[in-house]
Amino acid sequence: MEKVILIKYGELSTKKDNINYFLTRLRDNILFVLKDLNVKVDYDKGRMFIHTKEDFETVISRVTKVFGIHEINICYIIESIDFKEIADQTVNLLKEFSLKTFKVESKRSNKRIPLTSIELSKNMGAQILKNIPNLKVDVNNPEVLVNIEYRNSNTLVYFEQIKGLGGYPVGTLGKGLLMLSGGIDSPVAGYLTSKRGVKLEAIYFESPPHTSHEAKDKVISLARKLAIYNNDINLHIINFTEIQESIYKNIPHEYLITIMRRMMYRISAIIAYNRNCKVLVNGESIGQVASQTLTSMSAINSVVNIPVIRPLACFDKLDIIAIAKSIETYETSILPFEDCCTIFVPKHPVINPDKHKCEEYEKLIPYEELIYQNIKNHEILKITSKEEKQFEDLL
Ligand code: ATP
Ligand code: MG
Repeated sequence: MEKVILIKYGELSTKKDNINYFLTRLRDNILFVLKDLNVKVDYDKGRMFIHTKEDFETVISRVTKVFGIHEINICYIIESIDFKEIADQTVNLLKEFSLKTFKVESKRSNKRIPLTSIELSKNMGAQILKNIPNLKVDVNNPEVLVNIEYRNSNTLVYFEQIKGLGGYPVGTLGKGLLMLSGGIDSPVAGYLTSKRGVKLEAIYFESPPHTSHEAKDKVISLARKLAIYNNDINLHIINFTEIQESIYKNIPHEYLITIMRRMMYRISAIIAYNRNCKVLVNGESIGQVASQTLTSMSAINSVVNIPVIRPLACFDKLDIIAIAKSIETYETSILPFEDCCTIFVPKHPVINPDKHKCEEYEKLIPYEELIYQNIKNHEILKITSKEEKQFEDLL
């Protein structure tokens, strides 16, 4: 009898024709998070198995952060389809626990077995009761659920269920470029997008010396948190100083943010195109600030053709914060370093910007040349999920 980690992939099993495409990617993503460990991963129609002698807790804690997994179980593979043999081994396993109540649940993918799942459960329950004194069946609230899957050539037995994150394996739905600021929203937007199978690259606009080194390190730290769910992340760092200063000097201040964001969108769209990212992703949320009214979003969005995904468009801030805490980006996001948006904030930003005015004002700055230089000289960092120590003393 081998003890393995069993992976179930709920939503994926609805993918009929291209299920193998999803499963190969899931297997590769699992292997990626376990790459320093000695493991073997294989799968058949409905189940994936991690075979390893490594510490199960370590393996499971990493696998719980891989998208596309519905449930994780510590499972015993019994190399038999003989009921008596299966019952004996199950009883032996159960003797290890000190239990009062249980319930048996059976699945029967071996259709040659003449009994129904319910009959199999009843029979197994009877064997357990007969062999372990003082144990009782409790169908409503059992201490342990004894799951038995009767398959064609072997049998799976498992007791505990650990919930997976769900979603689709990262990379199965292509690539997106996340506009990653140091704030609370954009890491959450990235996380939710990766959950739908989209592999992220990220882009960050900095304005040194107006923004500090710490602000950049904070974004790197957030990218590292997202890399946990994304394998590695390429982080594109754009030096936005010259564009921002020239907007500040030449354009009426109520339009600063609108024009600045139009520039960010233009640059992001070009980087996305160069990196084969099919969408931009950002943390905008309807009504959150002046630049996120519908008129503002429309004036800003109109400079690009690439689709823009805004996973948080309809989220309340408190709900966003709850996710940020659960993915452990919140504590980093609230560190008090200035972002380039916050430095050049006008007193009265326009709430309903006029697209034509934006176009007129933009003629006052040589933005095409500046964008070209920006992109030509930008820095790309490959961010891995390895823990960094930098901020630990600040958190
Ligand atoms: P966040 O929205 O991440 O909490 P924020 O509230 O400071 O940060 P906003 O001004 O609301 O940012 O900007 C909306 C979105 O625009 C952000 O969620 C992010 O996707 C993008 N963005 C803002 N500033 C930057 C930046 N410096 N670099 C990259 N993207 C940015
Ligand atoms: Mg925001």
